[in-house]
Amino acid sequence: MAIERTLVIVKPGAIQRELTGEIITRFERKGIKLVGIKMMMLDDAMIEEHYSHLKEMPFFGDIKKSMQRTPVVALALEGHDIVKRVRILTGETNPREAAPGTIRGDYSISLSNNVIHASANTKEALEELQRFFKEEELFSYRRMNVMDYSDD
Ligand code: ADP
Repeated sequence: MAIERTLVIVKPGAIQRELTGEIITRFERKGIKLVGIKMMMLDDAMIEEHYSHLKEMPFFGDIKKSMQRTPVVALALEGHDIVKRVRILTGETNPREAAPGTIRGDYSISLSNNVIHASANTKEALEELQRFFKEEELFSYRRMNVMDYSDD
């Protein structure tokens, strides 16, 4: 299985409820490697590109408004089969259908404030990472465990 990268956006609905740390912790506890992180305000063009598949929907204005209520925190995550695994941890779009134990199932209280975005597939993950991160904002590094330290 190939090492992949995926994009997660901690949406304004989570920022407002001070869930950012908790959400990042969920990925860290699962052993998922963080390779990029940044806070940013999304402009209209960014949202229109990111959610272009929903542009014609009657609720697109609501999405735009909710995505611009606060800055967002973009995360780049890396691992084997990570795109699919992060989508599973994310849970269903609709909070009523998101299973307990998933991030949306545990924290999300409305459809337009469903706390995070996660790339849907590997093609979108590549496109979305390029949209949200410059090359120099993504990192490669080795994670250590206690056996790797010799200064104890
Ligand atoms: P996902 O985020 O699970 O990939 P979509 O790409 O279909 O799902 O939708 C993008 C986002 O648009 C959703 O996460 C949700 O916040 C919002 N959204 C989707 N459908 C609706 C709807 N019917 N009403 C309001 N917001 C919606």
